[in-house]
Amino acid sequence: MQQNSIKELFKKNNALLNGHFKLSSGLHSDTYFQSALILQHPKEAAYLAEELTKKIKENNIKVDVVVSPAMGGVIIGHEMGRALNVRAIFTERVDDKVSLRRGFSVKEGEKVLVVEDVITTGLSTKEVIDSLKFFGVEIVAVVSLVDRSAGKVDFGVPRFSLLSLEVKSYKEEDCHMCKDGGIAVKPGSRK
Ligand code: ZN
Repeated sequence: MQQNSIKELFKKNNALLNGHFKLSSGLHSDTYFQSALILQHPKEAAYLAEELTKKIKENNIKVDVVVSPAMGGVIIGHEMGRALNVRAIFTERVDDKVSLRRGFSVKEGEKVLVVEDVITTGLSTKEVIDSLKFFGVEIVAVVSLVDRSAGKVDFGVPRFSLLSLEVKSYKEEDCHMCKDGGIAVKPGSRK
């Protein structure tokens, strides 16, 4: 699957937006990924998971369990679990601490595939990895639908994504779109 056709699929579903956005980090960017808008279609979600699964299989990576962070990673993680025929569980953030809840567990030595929807700075992915290392699991790879860092973020394990591109983000005072008189909008928020 070509990166360009994945991009078109995102655009078609309004999951890739161009404009002037204020990200949750507070930074401004001209590009925003709202992967929920593509993942709301189960067929598309399954298709994207199958494309990611090909990369895992091509590289002979064995997986016992898929772990993804809630909320963004849950749907694609679940579809990856289906495509790989392994269980799919998720971490949650409560009181600023990321952990497995709801009786989910991983066993020592289990091979864990971490699945994200969008990786930007990689900080939240690192928190997921750290929360699992405690159990003595082996993190075999990190996959994401979108990698906004174009592969720059390093987790010390193999990484795969369907759409890898460097998307610049700016501090408000350095934002050229603000300098041109534009106003940044928070994606997903109601007017
Ligand atoms: Zn701006």
